[in-house]
Amino acid sequence: MQFKYSIILLCFLILVACDSFYKENNTKNQPIGIVIHGGAGTILRKNMTPEKESNYRKVLAEAIHVGYIILKNGGSSQEAVEKTINIMEDSPLFNAGKGAVLTADEKIELDASFMNGATLDAGAISGGRTIKYPISAAIKVMVNSPHVMLSGEGADQFASEQGLQIVESDYFYTERRINSLRRVKEAEQKEAQNSSLEEAFLKNQRYGTVGCVALDSEGNLSAGTSTGGMTNKKWNRIGDAPIIGAGTYANNKTCAISATGWGEFFIRSVVAHDISALMEYKGLSIREASRIVIHEKVAKLGGDGGIVGIDNQGNIAMEMNTPGMYRAHIDNEGNLTVKIYKDE
Ligand code: ASP
Repeated sequence: MQFKYSIILLCFLILVACDSFYKENNTKNQPIGIVIHGGAGTILRKNMTPEKESNYRKVLAEAIHVGYIILKNGGSSQEAVEKTINIMEDSPLFNAGKGAVLTADEKIELDASFMNGATLDAGAISGGRTIKYPISAAIKVMVNSPHVMLSGEGADQFASEQGLQIVESDYFYTERRINSLRRVKEAEQKEAQNSSLEEAFLKNQRYGTVGCVALDSEGNLSAGTSTGGMTNKKWNRIGDAPIIGAGTYANNKTCAISATGWGEFFIRSVVAHDISALMEYKGLSIREASRIVIHEKVAKLGGDGGIVGIDNQGNIAMEMNTPGMYRAHIDNEGNLTVKIYKDE
């Protein structure tokens, strides 16, 4: 009898050992990786103070580290993207969550979207006013509703019903964004005599979106984007960030992409999906596909901005046609890169 139990125990131990050996090897062969952006635009060294620059670099590093640890511990790319973006939504430095830009009537309208590259499931919200973490609401739309995109009061109501954190609109307001709106309005009024400095300022007020793409140890890709949109936006304007295929796209066959920039041009160029399509149908690398879409499509239409992307092997792209884009990457070996200016 005892012999029988010993054999069963032995078999069980062999099974456990085989399983962990398989898992370990599988994890080793499958690279992980994560890339983020905190907006693209006229980001110039001459307009930066060392303090401001180090604050940006610090939050970018903190945010991406959170996602990397999730991936390293075998967590999903979905969780890594959500938790990384949550950190940036908490930071008033970025135009997402707290610190989002203001509309022409001094309101907040938050847009976000998420896509799962394994299932091609997607979720998005647009025009949210009370959702503390818009990216989490986008994920809830994907997981717990039969829809892909919810807007306005309905999005706020859905987020509340889902038990997500709801805040008063005041939570999002920052001094910086109130001043930006005032300056954009003043500049708009004297548009005819705009100096190039004012134009640069106006352009900058469009940007600051955050995004994250990740590849997990199961080989699954995810992409997410969250933004307050454009300063002084009117008529419930919606940009590319909450639009699947424009601001966000993920497909395990190809890549995960999150975009930032002048949304109207990114919608018209269907940026994120186009990069994936060039890879899928033409066999291009993620870098070549991203270069073509940003420089030969968006730029030629007159738009500007950038993308971050990662493919199913962990190769990445951080492409822009602006002087800068806040961005960071952690590769399979855990090496961190943080960059701001285009020429870095
Ligand atoms: N793409 C965003 C929008 O147009 C803005 C940004 O990326 O900063 O709403």
